[in-house]
Parts: sequence; structure tokens; C-alpha cells
Amino acid sequence: MTKRKAALKGEASAISRGRHEYNCSVCSHTQREQIEQDFINWVSPAVITKRYKMANRASVYRHAHAAGLFPKRIVFSAGGGERLFADILRRYAHKIIIDPGRSGFQVSPHWYVLGGFDYGKANPTAALVATVDDDGIIYILREYYQPGFSPKEHRPWITQLQGFRTATMFADPSIFYANQAQGDGTFKAIATLFAEEGIDNLSPAPENNELLGMERILSHWMNLDQREPTLKIVCPKALQDIAKPTYGIVNGGCPNLLWELRRARREELTPTQLTRKNPTEKIVDKDNHLRDCLKYLVLTLPEPNRKSARMLAAEAVRPLAEQGDLTSALIRYQQKIQELEYGSQPVTLRNHRRRGY
Ligand SMILES: [Zn+2]
Repeated sequence: MTKRKAALKGEASAISRGRHEYNCSVCSHTQREQIEQDFINWVSPAVITKRYKMANRASVYRHAHAAGLFPKRIVFSAGGGERLFADILRRYAHKIIIDPGRSGFQVSPHWYVLGGFDYGKANPTAALVATVDDDGIIYILREYYQPGFSPKEHRPWITQLQGFRTATMFADPSIFYANQAQGDGTFKAIATLFAEEGIDNLSPAPENNELLGMERILSHWMNLDQREPTLKIVCPKALQDIAKPTYGIVNGGCPNLLWELRRARREELTPTQLTRKNPTEKIVDKDNHLRDCLKYLVLTLPEPNRKSARMLAAEAVRPLAEQGDLTSALIRYQQKIQELEYGSQPVTLRNHRRRGY
């Protein structure tokens, strides 16, 4: 459908919704929300008609269509709980997961190294070390996963994670607030407690929104039939599908990260929640410690489409550069980036249009 047609359809449905409400005995019913919950909960429209003293079943169906209850009923009967990454990780494992043994993959010492860090008291404290190559592809190299330790107890272990000491480790901004009560009546930030143990390379992540983070991870894994993933995870073949977490340091890859990602799912919603919420709203807040590290990492780095613009521009000017015409190559490169990132419109025009001038 074209945008114009979609817009027309949107207008038409807005008009018919108005007309629907005017005529609908469910819309004006004092127990409208219970009726909707019953419908989502697969109570038969015949029973609903009787229970709420309505004229006929047809009005229940008409309302269900108008109020978009059918998809909600399907979400409810599927149990919600849709898994976010399990399917992609199964279908594209050969593209996303790098077996360091078989592939011969090596990290260039020139690539940028960074990390993600997530502190847990009873839950595992987690850390990931990652690197970014010259094309902007992110490789998650190794992990730390350990519950129940204090910062002092973590120190001798976490410092054995290769790359940890020299990389900036991006963490939840909340650990930089002084809210941990100390024995002497003062308060300290978790980040300070780690700094006192010599771990002073933690830095607040620029963004920690959960949905934004999950969407960013997915954006690195879009259209994998046509393109290479821009986010890859190193893990030895034997550890790629562990049944339960294994605590400690894994310098050879990220088995626990894969374990967490496969389990990540949207929340199961009750009929009550479904009448009020967008079903795609929440991600289950569980087994998300390495996943949080990954979130801080990807939200710190640029979006994949920006990188692909750089990559495409570099490809476009390669012939010029190879001929030694570096001035033309540079001009063409900048034009190409402009085209790819902003269309052919100058930047200012686009910004004005956005504000509705
Ligand atoms: Zn209605």
C-alpha cells in the first residue's frame, strides 16, 4: 500500500470509528472494559450478550472489530511471551555467532575496544568486552557472570577478563549515585565502591531505555538474508547452546549472553492489561544482566544504518581513491554520505520540514 492510500484508509477508519461509537451499545456500556476483557479472554459472544444484557451478538463482534480486540485476543491465546531473539539466533546462528576455533577469527589490535557492565547484588554482576572493526561491525568477545559478590570480592575475578582493565565499561547510570548506605552513616555510589578496588573505568551509558536497547539489537540483525549482521557474538561451538548459566569468567566467548538472549521475551499480558496496553510494551525483567551489558554497549555505539552509509560511501569512492585522486574521492565521499543519510535534501530543509514549517 502506498503512503497516500494508507493515509486515506486511516482517515476513513477514523470516520467510521466515530460513527461506530455513536451507534455501539458496547462503547456506551457502563461495563465496557469487562466486556472487552471477556472477549479477549475468549468468552463466547453469546455468553457476553447474555451476561451484559445486550441486544445481540452482532454488536459484540462489530465492537470487537472497531476496537481492535481480535489481535489482542490472539496475543492473549498465544500466551504473550513472544521471544525476542530466539528465532533470529536459531535461523542466522551461522552469521551471528563466530566460533573462534573453526573460523580462525582474530581481533586486530587497532580496533576500538569497549565494554558493558551491570552490577547485581543477589543477581549476577555481568560484564562484556567487545570490539568494533573498521566497518563498524561490533564483536562481543567475552563475558563475566557472577552472582552474590561484593565489589571487593569481584575484583580478583573480573580483572582477569581480558581487555576489561583498559576498556571503558559502560554501565547503568544509576550506579553512579551515592545511595549505598555505609557502616559509618555515609552513602557511596556502587561505582565508587568499585573505584576504591581499583576498578575506575566504569562510565555511565548515554542511554538505558529497555525498548530502545532491544530495538537497537534487533536493528543490527535485520534482513539477514540480504546482508551481514553488524553485531556478532563470539562463542565456541560446544558452548553455543548451554542449558543453564555457568558462573565465572569466560575469555573464549559468550555462552551466558546467548543463553540470556534466547530467553528474552515480551511480557505475558492478562486480558485486563491487554485492554489498556499496547501488547508490545514490556520486556520480561529477568535473566537480563548480560543483555543489559549488551544494551549499554549498542546504545553507546552508532546505529547500524549510519555505519552502512559510511561503508557504502567508502565503496563508492574506492575507484577514485585507487586512481590516486584523493581530492575528488573526499568530495564524492562527503556527497555520498549526505545522499545516504539525508536523501538529496540539504540538512536544514529536512529539519525545517520536520518541525512543520
Ligand atoms: Zn463499540
